[in-house]
Amino acid sequence: MRLENRIALITGAGRGIGRAIAEQYGREGARVAVADLTLESAQEAVDAIERAGGTAMALAMDVTDENAVDRGVAAIVEKWGGLDIALANAGIQHIDPLHKLAFADWSKVMSVHLDGAFLVTRAALNQMYAGGGGTILYMGSVHSLEASPLKAPYVAAKHGMLGLCRAVAKEGAEHGVRSNIICPGFVRTPLVDKQIPEQAKELGISEEEVISKVMLKNTVDGKFTTLEDVAELAVHLAAFPSAALTGQSIVVSHGWHMQ
Ligand code: NAD
Repeated sequence: MRLENRIALITGAGRGIGRAIAEQYGREGARVAVADLTLESAQEAVDAIERAGGTAMALAMDVTDENAVDRGVAAIVEKWGGLDIALANAGIQHIDPLHKLAFADWSKVMSVHLDGAFLVTRAALNQMYAGGGGTILYMGSVHSLEASPLKAPYVAAKHGMLGLCRAVAKEGAEHGVRSNIICPGFVRTPLVDKQIPEQAKELGISEEEVISKVMLKNTVDGKFTTLEDVAELAVHLAAFPSAALTGQSIVVSHGWHMQ
């Protein structure tokens, strides 16, 4: 097992990509704190991890709530004695052209991704610095590295998370903390399923065309990235044995955006 006895926090892990990673971390021997907006959704993921023989705890944590994030990290340390891996994964999407974008929608997307990533980072670093090191991971996107129409706040926020990841790599190095950002292409989760009809309406094309001509157009083989693909990368980045791999963005996308 590649993450034996490591203590991990994953935000937005009640469903989708975060849940797939939480379950994979559990299978790899980590103790996993599953955080999500409601305790019920986090608990469902915890139950799945425990059914598979793993160890997990559920946390109700809105990542935009400073106190909730600090309380959640404190609860992990109280229960398990430290924190080795923190993955800022919670995210939302909003589809609108810039000239029609409400400030409230802009702010909400920025807050969940960027404020959330900052708050999780700060709380985790305080534990990791005290404990001699750790790994911070961010769930970026291909949109951390390039843009698409109709997704301005998401693109801006994901680029911002790349900057935060790099800053953490620089500051964290002397404390034994590595930091990397995972940049997936499209993965079929509720976040993506919701935007297919929204984009079809906004662009005046069919839902099939949104998939083939927008989402998967620039992949090498027209395929979606899978939950398993992203979870495997998240294990690899957390388990990497030295400080050589830090400050990097790793794209997992069937070749969409080669760097
Ligand atoms: P999802 O909608 O299936 O899951 C997102 C989770 O985040 C949900 O459980 C939701 O409750 C939680 N969440 C939302 N706001 C929150 C908040 N304020 N505090 C705590 N939790 C909150 O989405 P997903 O596709 O699994 O996305 C997970 C991450 O992966 C996001 O950061 C997303 O931007 C990123 N991502 C997704 C794709 C994709 O194609 N699905 C591609 C690249 C990056």
